[in-house]
Amino acid sequence: MKRKLQNEFSMKIMSKSENERFSRTSVCAFITALDPTIPELADIRTALSEAVTNAIVHGYRNAEGTIYISVKYYTDRTVVLKIKDRGCGIEDIEKCKEPLYTTDESGERGGMGFAIMESFMDKMTVKSKVGSGTTVTLYKKLS
Ligand code: ATP
Ligand code: MG
Repeated sequence: MKRKLQNEFSMKIMSKSENERFSRTSVCAFITALDPTIPELADIRTALSEAVTNAIVHGYRNAEGTIYISVKYYTDRTVVLKIKDRGCGIEDIEKCKEPLYTTDESGERGGMGFAIMESFMDKMTVKSKVGSGTTVTLYKKLS
């Protein structure tokens, strides 16, 4: 049977680190209706946090910008999160996905964000265009 969209929620936040926490809490509250396990919820929270943080620190380089987040879930219990920024974009996506690869020069970042998103979720896709922005889509099927 083909899965159908069951529910959807979207939000638009300013690229501020205090909003990263809010977006996590809101998305987790929204999917509570699916009765996820604590580990499933923790995985989704962590992956979302990495994607939103990337939009803030890399996409917008800590300057003002808007981040678009949407969460959908389907009748087969698949949760799909989209995190989109209209920031600087990524030149070499495959390279950026490699564990430990970072363009950060402050020494604060470990280059593990994409690796975490990929391992905590079932699937990750990254679309990006230099100068126009980045969209990360994360999928996870709940038990
Ligand atoms: P960590 O996530 O461990 O703090 P990191 O953010 O550098 O370090 P990743 O999250 O894996 O590591 O991202 C790798 C690189 O991809 C970043 O250093 C950055 O160059 C680029 N990148 C990631 N997300 C974006 C984005 N939204 N816009 C522009 N560049 C991005
Ligand atoms: Mg990161």
